[in-house]
Amino acid sequence: MLPSVDRILQQDQVKDLLDEYPRWLVLRAVKQAIEEERIGILSCDHDTLSEEGLSLEYFSKRVSEIISTLGQLSLRRVINATGVILHTNLGRSLLNLEVLQNLVTVASNFSNLEYNLKEGKRGSRYSHVENILCELTGAEAALVVNNNAGAVLLALNSIARGMDVVVSRGQLVEIGGSFRIPDVMRSSGARLVEVGTTNKTHLIDYRRAITDDTALLLKVHTSNFQIVGFTSEVKLEELVGLGKEFSLPVMEDLGSGCLIDLDRYGLTREPTVQEAISKGVDVVTFSGDKLLGGPQAGIILGREEAVRRIKENPLNRALRIDKLTLAALESTLRLYMEEERAVQEIPTLRMLTMPLQEIEKRARSLYRRLRKDSSGNFHIVIKDDNSRVGGGALPLQDIPTKVISIKPVRLSLDGLEEGLRNYNPPIIARIDDGQLLLDVRTLQEGEPKIIEEAIKMLTVNRIY
Ligand SMILES: *Cc1c(COP(=O)(O)O)cnc(C)c1O
Repeated sequence: MLPSVDRILQQDQVKDLLDEYPRWLVLRAVKQAIEEERIGILSCDHDTLSEEGLSLEYFSKRVSEIISTLGQLSLRRVINATGVILHTNLGRSLLNLEVLQNLVTVASNFSNLEYNLKEGKRGSRYSHVENILCELTGAEAALVVNNNAGAVLLALNSIARGMDVVVSRGQLVEIGGSFRIPDVMRSSGARLVEVGTTNKTHLIDYRRAITDDTALLLKVHTSNFQIVGFTSEVKLEELVGLGKEFSLPVMEDLGSGCLIDLDRYGLTREPTVQEAISKGVDVVTFSGDKLLGGPQAGIILGREEAVRRIKENPLNRALRIDKLTLAALESTLRLYMEEERAVQEIPTLRMLTMPLQEIEKRARSLYRRLRKDSSGNFHIVIKDDNSRVGGGALPLQDIPTKVISIKPVRLSLDGLEEGLRNYNPPIIARIDDGQLLLDVRTLQEGEPKIIEEAIKMLTVNRIY
């Protein structure tokens, strides 16, 4: 009794869909609707199997529903109301609009990616960012790859394959996903030599571990955790001194790679890339999309000799940065030529340094929007809370913020959270202590209005 594909396609409602969507998509939805019914019938879980469930009206409606989900892209924009600025699950850094325009231009036109315009000959893709990276940081040479995990892998493989790398036990970090320093080291072909203890490592520990097989002294910035209490870590300059004594290169994995002094903005000091370079480190690696606020990339800076060895490694080709990233990275770095501009125009830095006064203003404005339509259904207040940097940076930093706390009056909190998450665009909020929290720090322009509409829709439809 199931209708044929052709008969469903002849329904007016489905014909309208054909005007709006490509034929393959409509066809797929029709087939899926029939298949769903077929499975339902065969599994006999249709107690209510009725003429109506097999009607053409039913199928027309079902086809529209399926199309609205099939038509949606899998990777989509969401609204980050969590207050976590560098949220790895939500895409880390946002790009500035000017940066984006440059990316679009480079993506939709031919470019001089590997062409030297001055000489009319083949050029290097790295040349587009090397000078500016050196200028901003004081490094002698630079290289960029796909991401920082790749940068660490490549640097270790280039400098220490088949040899020993000395690292403090207190710095054997797991970043998340599957990036663990000991595992990356093994994959790179280098041998890990752990020294010191979890809480304390001294210079003498490194010194004692150095043998003829040692190729590198490595320092890893414990970017996403902190050991507090009875602790000591060897300073980068001491490690550099030891490296000089034994003619060994020293590398630091900075993780986040901050280019500005965060304590000028009332935040905890994060070691800057410039500092690492000025202390004489041979290689430093960091991410493009953490505190730098650019696209996903791994940046490798340092001494000419060390960076040259990394550039010449055939593995470099496998970790090659693509032209879109390169375009976005170059224009993000340009913004750093003036610190004030960087802080104002790089979304990550703007959110991070947004004054509490401004946050308060935005919170009040969102509060007024939400109060308008939802009285009786929700209990809404403005509260003090803390935003987080996220992305494995400044793990102990609480950044005072204002959140909108929403408690549904009659309905379930999980339902409210789910309703917002399934909205288009999805709104990702935090749940804490029986309330749904919306942190205004991470909201972008136009998003308060979308949240207002979502709450209104949930109020009207009683979806929660
Ligand atoms: C984040 C981080 C990495 C990995 O960087 P990705 O760009 O995410 O690959 C490596 N090391 C440290 C210390 C980090 O904080």
